[in-house]
Amino acid sequence: MTARILDGTATAQALLEETADRAAKITERLGRKPSLVTVLVGEDPASKTYVKMKANRAAKYGLESRRIELPDTSTTAEVVARVEELSADDTVDGILVQHPVPSQVDEPAVFEAIRADKDVDGVTMTSFAAMGLGRTGFQSCTPGGIIRLLDAYQLPLEGQHAVVVGRSPILGKPVGMLLLERNATVTYCHSRTRDLAEVVRTADLIVAAVGRPELIRGDWVKPGAVVVDAGYNPGNVGDVEYAAAAERASWITPVPGGVGPMTIATLLAQTVDAALTRL
Ligand code: NAP
Repeated sequence: MTARILDGTATAQALLEETADRAAKITERLGRKPSLVTVLVGEDPASKTYVKMKANRAAKYGLESRRIELPDTSTTAEVVARVEELSADDTVDGILVQHPVPSQVDEPAVFEAIRADKDVDGVTMTSFAAMGLGRTGFQSCTPGGIIRLLDAYQLPLEGQHAVVVGRSPILGKPVGMLLLERNATVTYCHSRTRDLAEVVRTADLIVAAVGRPELIRGDWVKPGAVVVDAGYNPGNVGDVEYAAAAERASWITPVPGGVGPMTIATLLAQTVDAALTRL
């Protein structure tokens, strides 16, 4: 078997175009474009690139984007104060604080300064609870993007055994919650899991969210399983041994061009959703 490709680039493109249409309609009614503010604390080059990419993409698809840069010596109180100002600003629909923030800054405290109805990156406790409880709310963008990608290919989730490798608060944990909400049977694996290979072998759907190049070996993939690789490691390498996994899987995400583009598209779609609530 050679897996078919879950094309994140094409699926994200369709979502971006739909988002641009919605943004144009809202702009007419609101008298301004839906707006996304990104907050970058410090000088991390990868974070700078991500923020720039998000802002450029926002502008390209009809949103207003504003970038705020704070020095890497900022204190928690300073960053919280800036985010609170944005939370209170009626011209701001969505706020994204690029993570990780410098180590002296209390990241959860900064996230909680984002007003829940502007949390388009889905990082506050309110958004996390909404995902866990199956309520309407903003989703963490990568998990939300993964579900949108699986849905675009109409892959069934109900009753499927989903094995999520990784349990971070922005990725592994929420993607498992969203899959559970869709009636998958979810197993989480992490750094203390015994016999990772044996657990992964039982998966109908594997979501790799670790950050270790090719940790998931091709021969761990059950023939016909669906493989979603959210990992992104230097050299454009995912968390799954791609070529060998593609021999056994029914569907697989490439790296790059799989999960990554869906994340930004979901962020922009959710910013337009946020603007809609202000009409
Ligand atoms: P993270 O916060 O470092 O979490 C990594 C998770 O992997 C942790 O839960 C950790 O377990 C687990 N883990 C580490 N070593 C393991 C092992 N040997 N076996 C099983 N589990 C292991 O990372 P993250 O932020 O979730 O990101 C994960 C990956 O996704 C990275 O490659 C990142 O670049 C990528 N990512 C991509 C996007 C995108 O848009 N495409 C967005 C976000 C992240 P413990 O909890 O036990 O430590």
